[in-house]
Amino acid sequence: MIDLEPTPDQMLLVQTIREYMDREFAPYIQDWDAQHAYQPDTFAKLAAVGLTGICFPERYGGSGMDYISLGLASEELEYVDTSLRTILSVHIGLCAMGIFIWGTEEQRRCLLSPLAAGERFGAFGLTEPNAGSDVAGMRATARRDGDRYILNGEKTWVSYADYADRFLIFAKTDPSGGHRGISAFVVDRSEAGDGFRTFPIARKAGIFAGDTGSISMSDVPVPAGNRLGEEGEGFTIAMSSLENGRYTVASGACGTIRAAYDASVAYAKEREAFGKPIGRFQLVQQMIAKMYQRYEASRLLCLQAGYLKNLGRPSNRAVSLAKWFACDAAFEAASDAVEVFGAYGYSDEYPVFRLMRNARAPVIYEGTREIHTVIQGEYALGYRTDRSPRCTLPPWEGQKPMESERDLVGVG
Ligand SMILES: Cc1cc2nc3c(=O)[nH]c(=O)nc-3n(C[C@H](O)[C@H](O)[C@H](O)COP(=O)(O)OP(=O)(O)OC[C@H]3O[C@@H](n4cnc5c(N)ncnc54)[C@H](O)[C@@H]3O)c2cc1C
Repeated sequence: MIDLEPTPDQMLLVQTIREYMDREFAPYIQDWDAQHAYQPDTFAKLAAVGLTGICFPERYGGSGMDYISLGLASEELEYVDTSLRTILSVHIGLCAMGIFIWGTEEQRRCLLSPLAAGERFGAFGLTEPNAGSDVAGMRATARRDGDRYILNGEKTWVSYADYADRFLIFAKTDPSGGHRGISAFVVDRSEAGDGFRTFPIARKAGIFAGDTGSISMSDVPVPAGNRLGEEGEGFTIAMSSLENGRYTVASGACGTIRAAYDASVAYAKEREAFGKPIGRFQLVQQMIAKMYQRYEASRLLCLQAGYLKNLGRPSNRAVSLAKWFACDAAFEAASDAVEVFGAYGYSDEYPVFRLMRNARAPVIYEGTREIHTVIQGEYALGYRTDRSPRCTLPPWEGQKPMESERDLVGVG
């Protein structure tokens, strides 16, 4: 049975992150968003309190907490801004978790530990200009050359491409092999040479306080020891990483819904029309009641997914459902919040338009709404089965009770 009560450690985690966010990010985020400027010290600030390695064992530089804690942290970060949660999604869910699950012991020590400790910023390069949902359509190649691979190709829409140090990149070792021809590589910017270049994507429509970029790879040498898994296992590794990323995206969406709800409740009590607070109008109440409904349902789906992941049980179906539902719910809640605020919602004087702009992208990334609909349809019809995850090694192994903010800082 799922225990819905957070543990004392989880409650302390949430309280600690809230206080930290209130101090370091919340007062400034609206301005950073308006300036379209990622603050380069943001990653270091998240690392300083152990968030960059929250769910990895302490021996790999992590904070030794569980998947539910990762979900709760994602919600708290996105409550302040989607750009902050996106860091956890790409750095932990998509990149570091891939190395943790698929890496050898040596790769975990060398490639994962600096990520978990926050010394390196991780990102994930799967999407290409001509291949998003259709992963097997990718064109990037990796050619074996002695004890290294040579990578060529383009990646695009890579979150934090311009600031990350270490990338989990997918390329075809067998260009005629379809999805079975894909392999996964950990590419470190400092070792990749001049052929590895990144560019910011201009005229993006939201998540302005974060970065999204493209990667160009021209004869980029990557040590053979940085290949994750076997040749041809890249597609499976990508799907496994996406499952972890999606879990953080779904959990983050709960933060957007709660932010939309809190802002709407406060405004509806204060703004008056026809001689009374607008909160007295039933149609305004309906929008706010739906936000609450969406929050509770999304959070329960995320808790269910986190619970299954903690047990090492098949969780693909539950994670996909949580991601699909919560991301749609977050966009609808943010859009209703704009409505509650009337004309003021259609400005950046209040946070709700930023919430709505930001909430649109998670409906698209880490599996579009349509892809998750297809996934759920296939599960329902028995065309797809939820397999046990490859790695059931509990990430929170070695966890000790947390007593203060200092314990959350226990990295490296
Ligand atoms: C802000 C942002 C950040 C991102 N960050 C990353 C990142 O860090 N790393 C990374 O690799 N990628 C990232 N992405 C890319 C993202 O994962 C892709 O955009 C997404 O997978 C969709 O791919 P696409 O854009 O090529 O759309 P397409 O795959 O071309 O889809 C276009 C439309 O066709 C529909 N469609 C496609 N196939 C099917 C199907 N089989 N059945 C039904 N409908 C279908 C889609 O649902 C969509 O509506 C990011 C995207 C955004 C917007």
